[in-house]
Amino acid sequence: MKGPPILTTVVPVGPEPTHMICPHCHAEIDTTTYTRPGNIAYIAATLICLMGCAFGCCLIPCCIDNCMDVHHTCPNCKAYLGKYRR
Ligand SMILES: [Zn+2]
Repeated sequence: MKGPPILTTVVPVGPEPTHMICPHCHAEIDTTTYTRPGNIAYIAATLICLMGCAFGCCLIPCCIDNCMDVHHTCPNCKAYLGKYRR
């Protein structure tokens, strides 16, 4: 398998699964979503770790949640469809 191609689609992706026609396999799908922290989340997590775990652990969950990017993929052909950044 090749890596996911870099796409500039006009898919109107939001934070929720989107009903659409997949531009790759042309199937009618609801996008599969998953969240991954954006770069800001990694930076924030690093800073929090440096400040001390006891203090930082209670801050990490809300911080990470705000920094998450939502990625959309096609459940049929597994194509990467786009990313929604909060
Ligand atoms: Zn597809």
